[in-house]
Amino acid sequence: MALINFNKTVLHNLVSKPKTRKAEKEYPVGTRGHVENDMDLCILCGLCSIKCPTHAITVDKNEKTWSIRPMSCIQCRCCVDNCPKKSLSMGLRFQEPGTEKLTKTFKQSEKAIAAQEALMKAAKERAAAAAAAKAAAANAAGAPAPATAAPEKAPAAPAQATQDQNKE
Ligand code: SF4
Ligand code: SF4
Repeated sequence: MALINFNKTVLHNLVSKPKTRKAEKEYPVGTRGHVENDMDLCILCGLCSIKCPTHAITVDKNEKTWSIRPMSCIQCRCCVDNCPKKSLSMGLRFQEPGTEKLTKTFKQSEKAIAAQEALMKAAKERAAAAAAAKAAAANAAGAPAPATAAPEKAPAAPAQATQDQNKE
């Protein structure tokens, strides 16, 4: 009897559909799978690191690197929403399981470094120009007389010259 039941079960399993579903290869739009960073845009401001509730993100400005510990990430999306350069996004694929708590480190791209240096240079130039303009304004306010006297004297010389020319 046991043998008959066994064969019946085997035959049933052979012809019936599986009771489980295959893992979906396509993730629905909006899935918070894992955090991705576009290192061409990241300026290493560190805001994502400050906002992350699990301290999964580390920013090293000296080494110009951005790191994430995927196993510590709870996919809350807080870093993505607070990134001022919109370099962060949520990838659809879920983080794969593993036996070690890895740290994934990404280097800031040359393009981003060059863009950041250009921005800093422009900011320094603007600051220097503003300081120079402020100093000039302060000088003008402190000594008004010489500034107004100079233009009055200037036309006198050509007038003298024309008088001399008339004499000749
Ligand atoms: S990912 Fe965004 S918030 Fe984080 S350091 Fe880069 S620019 Fe700043
Ligand atoms: S999604 Fe949330 S937990 Fe994950 S790195 Fe961003 S802020 Fe941290």
